[in-house]
Parts: sequence; C-alpha cells; structure tokens
Amino acid sequence: MDTIVPLPLETGTLAFLLDQAKDFAIVHGLVICDTADQQQVASHVLLPSPIIRKRYIEAVEVAKDFNELYHKVANDYNFLRDALKSVLAVDSFTKGLWNIYETVRNEGIAQPINLGIVRSDYMVEYDHKDSQNNVENGVADVNGDVNDSNTRLRQVEYNTIATGAAGLSTQVAKLHRYLASEMELEVKLLENNPVSGTASGIVEAWQMYGNERAVVVFVIYSPNPQVYDRRWLEYAVYELNSRIKIISCTIHDMSEAVLTKDKKLFMKDREVGVVYFRSVGSPRHFTSNEVWETRLNIERSMAIKCPNINFQLSGTKKVQQELTKPGVVERYIKDPNAVQRIRATFAQQFNLEQNEEGDNALRLGIEKPEGFVLKPQREGGGNNFFGDDIKELLSKIKDSDERTQYVLMERIRPLVFKNYVVWEDKSVALCDMVSELGIYGVIMGTPDRIIMNTECGHLVRTKTLGTNEEKGRRFIDIDEIKQHV
Ligand code: ADP
Ligand code: MG
Ligand code: MG
Repeated sequence: MDTIVPLPLETGTLAFLLDQAKDFAIVHGLVICDTADQQQVASHVLLPSPIIRKRYIEAVEVAKDFNELYHKVANDYNFLRDALKSVLAVDSFTKGLWNIYETVRNEGIAQPINLGIVRSDYMVEYDHKDSQNNVENGVADVNGDVNDSNTRLRQVEYNTIATGAAGLSTQVAKLHRYLASEMELEVKLLENNPVSGTASGIVEAWQMYGNERAVVVFVIYSPNPQVYDRRWLEYAVYELNSRIKIISCTIHDMSEAVLTKDKKLFMKDREVGVVYFRSVGSPRHFTSNEVWETRLNIERSMAIKCPNINFQLSGTKKVQQELTKPGVVERYIKDPNAVQRIRATFAQQFNLEQNEEGDNALRLGIEKPEGFVLKPQREGGGNNFFGDDIKELLSKIKDSDERTQYVLMERIRPLVFKNYVVWEDKSVALCDMVSELGIYGVIMGTPDRIIMNTECGHLVRTKTLGTNEEKGRRFIDIDEIKQHV
C-alpha cells in the first residue's frame, strides 16, 4: 500500500518537513499541555495515513444509521435494563449511572431532548493470510498494492460521551495539507472540520432550549492534556454564534449549581441551557459522593445534557455486544439496507455471563487469548486486556460473578503501514503503524423524534504496531485520510 511518498525520506527532506511541521503546529494550536502546565506540540504522524477509500466511504455512509440506532436504544428502558443487568450486579460505576437514570425516570424527566456528540470508531481489517498482498511477517509492503476486497470495515466502539480530538484532528488535517503542498505533491486530501460540525450540535441545542440569556456549561476536568482540544470546540461555538456564553467548570464547581422547583438549573446566577460533559465518563472523575449528587442534580434539570444519562449508558461495551445478537438491530432500524450497513461492521462479541454462551467465551478467551480483546465497561482507553493478560484474568475470575462485567471481542487485525511519528519530546521515528478511523456526528432528539442527525468529519488515530492500547496511548496520534490509496 502506498504512502504518499516513498519512505524513508531523504535526511534533508525529513529535516525540512519537521521544521515546517513544528511551526505550523504551534501557530495552528496542534498543542497539548503537559503535567507541568507546559505547552507542547501534540504527538502526530508526519504524513497522512492511508485509508482504503471504499472503507472510508462505508464508515461515512453508516454514520447516521448508527446515530439513529443508539438514539433509539438509549430511549428503550427495558432493553438497557436487560442488557446491563449482569453488569449492574458487579460494577459499581455503571450501577451508579444506572441509579441516576432510575431516579430521574421515577421523578419524571424534565428535559426530553438529548444531545449526542458521538464518534464511531473503526479499524480496516486486513486478511494477513492472503499472500497476494505483499505481506511479510504481517506487515504490508508500503509500496505494494492492497486488494481492497481482502479488507473489511470493523467497528471498534461507539462513543457517546466526551468524544475528544475534534479540534486537534481539524488542525492536523490542515498540517498534512500544508506539508503535501510544501513537498509539491499531487495528492488530494479530504476536507475535515469535525470541530465545527460538533460545535453546531451545541449551538442547535442551545437554540432548542430557547432562552437567549441561557449559558452553556462545559463540565471539564483539570489538569487535562487535551485542554486546547476542548478550547477548539469552545472557540468553534463562538465562531458559529458569538452570543452563546460558555462557562467551563469542573464537576466539583457544579456542586454550587442551584436547581429551582421548576427544574431550571442556575450556575453563577445564570440559567443553564446546555451542559456539555467533557468529564464524568470515568470512575476517576467521581471522587466523592458529592460528585454523584451533583451529577444527579444536573440530570434532574431542564438543561439539555450532552449526553443525558441513558445516552451515556447506551455507549457501554455491554450494550455494543448485545446489539450484535440476532434480531436486535432490526428492532430499531426499519430500513433493511441500513441494517445491512450496520451489521457488516460488527466484529464477533460474547458476553461472559454465567450461562452457556459465557462459559464458551471464557474457554475461548483462555485457550486463544491472541484472538480477542477483553473489555470492561470503561471509557477513555487503557482499560482493556490483551494476550496473556486475558488468560490470566479469566482464569482468576472464572468462578466469580466478577466476570459478568466484561465482554470478549474478536481482535481486529488492521492494515499496517509505515509513517514517521513526531513525539511530544520532538524525537522522530519511522514506525510500522496501525490506524483507527473515527467518524464524528451529532444526534439530537426526544424519545419520539430525531431533531438533528449528522456525520461531520473524521479522526485517524495511529498507533505503533505491536503495542497494545496501553502503550499505544502514549503515541496517540491524530491524522488524516488520503483520498486514494
Ligand atoms: P475506549 O472506550 O477505552 O477507547 P475501545 O473499545 O476503543 O475503548 O478500546 C481501546 C483501544 O483498544 C482501541 O483504541 C484499540 O486500540 C484497542 N481495541 C479495542 N477493541 C479492539 C478489537 N476488537 N481489536 C483490536 N484492538 C481493539
Ligand atoms: Mg470509548
Ligand atoms: Mg476507543
């Protein structure tokens, strides 16, 4: 598979591009913040990652189908309850979220509209066994041809809360376009502006709330290396509508928010129209009971949540696994072509409940750990188990209820290509890489009606080959799509 230029680059060309990239990245805010509050250029790949065009188009075409599916699933209380039952029995974090859902449901839901800023993540799976594809030791020859019929689009996960990197991926797309032009290459790179597309969800939600004086609250955590990525979103809202006032504060700060008898939410004496959660997707954000109380109070309010608690719950790995069961997608999506588009992306998934399927999955995971990923109900990376760790964990918990909080997912083997990684410490390495393609979207609606459903850009996140996600996390990279490979 071709990268945009033959690799390795000549030393002089590489040095020139690195120099150009550094200044462009700083000027365009492709920046993160380290623990010492110092700004650094975010680690990135120097050249655009190749993505097979056909698979990219499939990911775009299925985007709104997935949004509709998750919107409907999130509004089906019985389905969520049954799907999550075995998880709720052993996982106190998911149970905490569920309790909020039950509470507001019993009290009466004040705000029927949910705003979802979502990202559906995929890998392009490649049949490494096929010898026609210039594959040696599992690495695709960068100058060879990939027959796209040996590739498939496979969904890794669907994110329903705090989907980040829209700001940085917008900037890295510009960086790659600029570098291609500096090299005088005749390549077409896709336009990509997910930050504006996702910001328009916030603007629309604010308009739906219908009070010109109402503010938007971004619930953030701090310190957060992605602070500038979040700022990009804030500024994109401002660009679209400068009358919208955004207040950024932590969930701890939100404990001062006042909920009136008629369920209006006030923060610093301003009525809150929209609450955008960049935080509270992970147990580490819930450091005290007060945080849980605050989250409940926000859910009780008339403010439009991004996302509301049931939409957040619909994004759990357990729900994703339940959706792969026969007949489930069909219950929510009536268009058979859309069902087909969705199902075509599913990798095999199993529950680990104490039943026959769970027992089989347990055996599979222990016998063939290389073939799977073991996932708990967590977000944000670094939580999954791979290889021998799967075997070890499953052997330890096989007779315990603990096992029911995991799902076992077929391990996807993506295409491999070479690229230069520019690390945060400015060192550079030519590596074998794999990419994950994320498609951003906005889905807003009530239980009965979809008000907005969009696909609005992409993220290509690149990791070095052979690293499991924990190691890959250090290299998180945001990158862009080459139109033809
Ligand atoms: P999170 O919500 O924590 O991001 P993911 O499902 O995206 O959870 O898993 C995190 C990472 O683990 C992914 O980015 C990918 O690198 C790896 N991963 C997850 N599922 C698979 C899979 N089925 N096959 C291969 N790698 C996977
Ligand atoms: Mg996720
Ligand atoms: Mg992920």
